[in-house]
Amino acid sequence: MQAVDCEFLRAAGVQLKVLRLDLVHPDLGGNKWFKLAPNIEAIIAAGKPRVLSFGGAWSNHLRALAAAGRHYGFSTLGFVRGELPRPLNPVLQFAADCGMELRPLSRSDYRRKQDPDFLAALYRELGEHQLLPEGGSNALAVQGCREIADFIEFGSGQQRIIALAAGTGATLAGLLQGAVDLSLNAHILGFSVLKAPGYMARQVQSLAGPLAAREAERWQILEDYHFGGYARRKPELDRFISDFSRESGIGLEPVYTGKLFYGLWQEIRQGSIAPGSEIVAIHTGGCH
Ligand SMILES: *Cc1c(COP(=O)(O)O)cnc(C)c1O
Repeated sequence: MQAVDCEFLRAAGVQLKVLRLDLVHPDLGGNKWFKLAPNIEAIIAAGKPRVLSFGGAWSNHLRALAAAGRHYGFSTLGFVRGELPRPLNPVLQFAADCGMELRPLSRSDYRRKQDPDFLAALYRELGEHQLLPEGGSNALAVQGCREIADFIEFGSGQQRIIALAAGTGATLAGLLQGAVDLSLNAHILGFSVLKAPGYMARQVQSLAGPLAAREAERWQILEDYHFGGYARRKPELDRFISDFSRESGIGLEPVYTGKLFYGLWQEIRQGSIAPGSEIVAIHTGGCH
């Protein structure tokens, strides 16, 4: 964990530490490693079959899966939403260099990626595959993300807050379970990177199960910091990211962590995060 100290935080009376999951591993870093680790165990136990998954053209999940496939010796097939950019962007180029087979999937087919008929047709064409959903967000991934809580330490703050970006909500769901297991006694704030009111809370409810309702006052989704939707950005966000990175030495990207820290700053400025609070922000990776 890395402490961030700046005039803005001091004036607000708020302590901030960043859990640098981005530094865990150059290729397998970030939250995607925690999501993949239990899945990889299952894949290896199943005799290393071919693994198939889905993602957008900038998917950190496909990138991490490709790296894991190369490292552990199983083959990977990534279906990419829409067209394959030519030349490949750095994320897909990296995946291809790791040996991942990349195939484009039309946006209409991509929407059907969980549809049993669609998957049955895919298996008929490709043979049996182990399937990982978009973002790798299945029940095993939620289990894997519980372990993120092991790395969190709080000091003397009066109010403990854990802040993270949420794309599918699986990391938040796992973290909620982990935080409850360890009695961290913290409030979890998820900054949604999607423009989809209500969606992220439903995701957490379905991924965390009954715990989400039982611990309802332990977590909350903030929906005001998506900048127009997934991977959308504005000059104001870009400016914040470069200022923050320069001052703290911590790199952010605009899809997830940039929106998290931008949103945190707004919440602190508005006083929604009170003086005396101690925040642990999870840097979920994504800067390569
Ligand atoms: C995938 C990703 C997330 C979102 O994680 P979810 O479990 O889908 O909510 C957050 N940050 C980064 C950098 C990611 O790559």
